[in-house]
Amino acid sequence: MEAINATQGTVSRGEWGFTDSIHDFNAVVAWRDAAIADGWEHRPTYGTHESEDRACKLTRDGFVVNVLTRTHDKAKRRYEAQVSAWGPDGLAIRVPDIYDWHAMQNAVMRCNYCGACPVETSRVAFAGRACGTCGPQERAKLSRDWAK
Ligand SMILES: [Zn+2]
Repeated sequence: MEAINATQGTVSRGEWGFTDSIHDFNAVVAWRDAAIADGWEHRPTYGTHESEDRACKLTRDGFVVNVLTRTHDKAKRRYEAQVSAWGPDGLAIRVPDIYDWHAMQNAVMRCNYCGACPVETSRVAFAGRACGTCGPQERAKLSRDWAK
């Protein structure tokens, strides 16, 4: 199971990244290792607080990726496996299921709401990436929600 969050561009395995599937967990580990092998700079996301094996921050040409590959002994789910990515403009990009640098570069021209590509994109909310059609609609929805 995989869910893609339009606003974040995140690929979560299971529910919000929480899963009992070793297959899902290994897929995210493989994603991270492929990126590192492809030359991304990498470091522990939380400095000395958590090992890079569990929380890794990847950077390349202005792109930023956060990878969570946590195992839990006592939690409801055994694994936490998630990849989130942002383009050089700070907006979310859709993460390919299998690591693919070329696809990530193209993703800055992809609307995360309707999937149109290639298109000009602009910000919605914190880091949402929208095309010229979805942008105004999504911004209108947001202002309605904030008005409640
Ligand atoms: Zn769109």
